[in-house]
Amino acid sequence: MAIDQDTRLRTIVGAGAKKLEDARGISTVGELLDFLPRTYLDPDRSTAFRELPHGEDVVVVGTVVSATTRQMRARRGRMLVVDLGDEQGGTLQLTFFKPFGHEQRLVPGAKVVASGQVGTYGRQLQLTHPDYAVLNDPSGKSSGGWLLGGLVPVYPATAKVTPIVHGDLLDLVLHALEDLPDPLPPAVRLAHGLPDLVDAYRLVHRPQTEADHRKGRWRLKFQEAFVIQAALARARLASDATPARAVAPVEDGLVDALLLRLPFDLTDGQHQIFGQLRSDLSHETPMHRLLQGEVGSGKTVLALLAMLAVVDGGGQAALLAPTEVLAAQHHRAITAMLGPLAEGGLLGGHEQGTRVALLTGSQSAAERRANLLAAASGEAGIVVGTHALIQDTVQFADLGMVVVDEQHRFGVEQRDALRAKASLAPHVLVMTATPIPRTVAMTVYGDMSTSTLRELPRGRQPITTHVVTGDKPAWVERTWGRVAEEVRGGGQVYVVCPRIGDEDDPFLPAWRTTGPGGPIHLSADHHADADADGDGDGHGHGHGEGAFGDGGSELHGVLQVTRALRELPATADLRIETLHGRLPAEEKDKVMTAFARGEIDVLVATTVIEVGVDVADATTMVVLDADRFGISQLHQLRGRVGRGGRPGLCLLMTQGAEGDPGAVERLDHVASTTDGFELARLDLETRREGDVLGASQSGGRSGLRFLKLARDEDLIVTAHDAAWATVEKDPELTAYPGLRRELDRLDAERAAFLERG
Ligand code: ADP
Ligand code: MG
Repeated sequence: MAIDQDTRLRTIVGAGAKKLEDARGISTVGELLDFLPRTYLDPDRSTAFRELPHGEDVVVVGTVVSATTRQMRARRGRMLVVDLGDEQGGTLQLTFFKPFGHEQRLVPGAKVVASGQVGTYGRQLQLTHPDYAVLNDPSGKSSGGWLLGGLVPVYPATAKVTPIVHGDLLDLVLHALEDLPDPLPPAVRLAHGLPDLVDAYRLVHRPQTEADHRKGRWRLKFQEAFVIQAALARARLASDATPARAVAPVEDGLVDALLLRLPFDLTDGQHQIFGQLRSDLSHETPMHRLLQGEVGSGKTVLALLAMLAVVDGGGQAALLAPTEVLAAQHHRAITAMLGPLAEGGLLGGHEQGTRVALLTGSQSAAERRANLLAAASGEAGIVVGTHALIQDTVQFADLGMVVVDEQHRFGVEQRDALRAKASLAPHVLVMTATPIPRTVAMTVYGDMSTSTLRELPRGRQPITTHVVTGDKPAWVERTWGRVAEEVRGGGQVYVVCPRIGDEDDPFLPAWRTTGPGGPIHLSADHHADADADGDGDGHGHGHGEGAFGDGGSELHGVLQVTRALRELPATADLRIETLHGRLPAEEKDKVMTAFARGEIDVLVATTVIEVGVDVADATTMVVLDADRFGISQLHQLRGRVGRGGRPGLCLLMTQGAEGDPGAVERLDHVASTTDGFELARLDLETRREGDVLGASQSGGRSGLRFLKLARDEDLIVTAHDAAWATVEKDPELTAYPGLRRELDRLDAERAAFLERG
């Protein structure tokens, strides 16, 4: 029987397979081979015992200095005590309460690899009943023949599988292995000097030298990047097979009319990107473009121009927003920018004018029906709504383009769902304000072209950011004084909290009470409730759910903070309102509209305000428990202020963030720069790869196995180029059965993942 990656381990290693399955969830040959050593030991340079971490599982190499068997005092029987020496003159004792079978092997001079938990007896470091193997065993009866020669691979220990047992089981597989289907085509391996797959596994698991395992690992990383890129390339080719409507520029159409109407000139960057968009739209190959630019850099105007180009060409465009609030805001902004151009067919409307339909879950049945009809009849050239709504319920007369706002997870499935609504493929433009490092763009959006708006429109004001730590009460007081000043000067203020809290929750922020009795505290369990909020909107960014994990001390809740601010002398006479995900959509919209009109001074909110919200007079933002938010998320949040004529101020408050030593440093980073790309890079370094990718991109697995997006840029670029060339040459991969097999496997994994929901 030929062995391949899918072969069940139990057919090769027998009983040991169950241990691996139970302890590590490993059940196939491929999974075992992909489980790489944690580190390597060099038997010629024994471990310095003095530095061993007490209480931890270790693997060490040393030489037996002495071995004595003695009668135990407290109990019957004998024990074996072996002194193992390192090269620095340190000793580690191995103790066995059943010496039988060990005495003959652990003799002075024997070189030993031992694994166990470091303990102490008196001042002597010990391993009790360690698992071990003798490297120069004259009897030849040692397990772990694989330990002879070269470096000693160290596998992480678990309860049932010691590093040595793991190595023994793996050794059976490596011996049985002759050949494996290799996802990397021979030509690619040759061009990049990569070993074949079986060799790569031997190099990482059984290296002679440091260089060996590096070479093996490099090849496994390359393969991971290559396979992802090949999948993206094939998806792109497949979707390109359905043509889109080619849109030619129309003279004196809606595009020209809007350009005339706009109260400003496009920046050079906007001009250039609009040129790219027009060029994309003029082809039958559907547009797949990612437009990134800081908050306020003018992406929405560009998207609107592109949508109008499609409408000029006789088609319709849909704009998908991640939340109802944003959909409503987009609708307002677009309608305002278009003015009479959005009143097609109405008295006083522009003669080529179109209509903009809005679809939200909170509309009345009649309103909804009217909007659905406008979309289906083609009367509405532009349809705005949330993803879910547009994907599920809307029929279009002729959908030519989809604009996706602020979306990290608009994958192949979503595009397929929308394509099903049209005979032609829609052009797709994804807008994001989160600057995406190149490696992430290539890995997540590898099938898209990228445009970046680097300059902000003139007149955009700088934002100053300060970190305020809760252990300085004077500063906290100063903060709320500052908020009041800001309002008196005509500004508006956002106060962002990590949770909503409960109406009758007695917990109030400590800064609220300065009188006798001191701060109010209570013992109730406060769960961060971002999920119950429906405020999970911003999860694509920053630390997602993890940002709201249980904290030790109470986190500020919107409802409590609002109560406290209404009582605090400094802020008591301000108009303070709340915005959070538990409010009905209608209510949210009302509050946002009132805030935008300047009828509210201070808006206490969760991250529902995170993306895209645009209020010109908002000058100040206070983020409470700022350490609970990710770097990119904070950057996003503060982009809400300083959007009008006055400079913005952002105060990041933290109660100290015990248990998260990096927290204050993260906040200082955010305060030190407004360069979103710089912050995105930092963010990437502090996040797990799974968070970056999202499940749908990584094919069901929650993350990358070998790649580090923060570090492997060159490798990813190289693998990208090689994979796209391979797929373009042979889209069906007839000549590359190994690659084909791997991609089919990923598809199956993803399908299974989606079914599980
Ligand atoms: P984004 O979508 O990238 O956050 P918007 O398109 O919403 O940015 O633009 C932010 C604000 O700047 C809007 O009020 C918009 O009208 C304005 N704006 C856009 N482009 C320009 C420009 N070239 N000059 C001046 N103001 C602009
Ligand atoms: Mg926007």
